[in-house]
Amino acid sequence: KSGFISIIGRPNVGKSTYLNRVIGQKIAIMSDKPQTTRNKVQGVYTTNEAQMIFIDTPGIHKPKHKLGDFMMKVATNTLKEVDLILFMINAAEGLGRGDEFIIDKLKGVKTPVFLVINKIDQIHPDELLSIIEQYKSLFDFKEIIPISALQGNNTEKLLEEIQKYL
Ligand code: GDP
Ligand code: MG
Repeated sequence: KSGFISIIGRPNVGKSTYLNRVIGQKIAIMSDKPQTTRNKVQGVYTTNEAQMIFIDTPGIHKPKHKLGDFMMKVATNTLKEVDLILFMINAAEGLGRGDEFIIDKLKGVKTPVFLVINKIDQIHPDELLSIIEQYKSLFDFKEIIPISALQGNNTEKLLEEIQKYL
C-alpha cells in the first residue's frame, strides 16, 4: 500500500514537529517558508506494509491578495488529489477563524479527513472531550485522533489509522 497524505492546519499547530517525529529527520523544517513551495514531498515513511508520502500543502488560509487567491486554488486542488488529509489543530487554542476557513474548504473535497488534535500534553483530559464534541459538529471527520507530536503520545496510533486509508 502506498499513498499521499497532506497535513494542513494553522501555523504553529505542530505540523512540522509531527513530521519530524515520524520521519525522524529535520526535513519538514526546510519547507517551512510559507507559500514558496508547492506540493513538495516533505518526507516518506515506509513500513513493511505501507509507504506514506507526506506532501506539503501551503496556502490553505484566507487569501489576502490575488496571488493568495491563486495559491488557494492550487492548494484546494492538491487536497482533492491526495489519499488522506490530516487536519491538525492545537488543543490548547480555541476554534478560530483560521480553523473555520479551512473546514469550509474541506467541505468541497471528497478526500477523507482526520482531525488530529495536537498538544494534548498542554490540556486537561476533560477539555479534550469538549474539543472533540465541538469539531464533530462542524465536519464529518473519518477519525479523530488526539496526539502530542512533541512527546510522542498516540503518534503510533495515528500512523496505524493512516495506513488503513491508503
Ligand atoms: P507548524 O507551524 O504547524 O509546522 O508548527 P511547528 O511544528 O513548527 O510547532 C510550533 C511550536 O509548537 C513549536 O515550538 C513546537 O515545539 C510546539 N509543539 C509542537 N507540537 C507540540 C506538542 O505536542 N506539545 C507541545 N507542548 N508543543 C508542541
Ligand atoms: Mg511547519
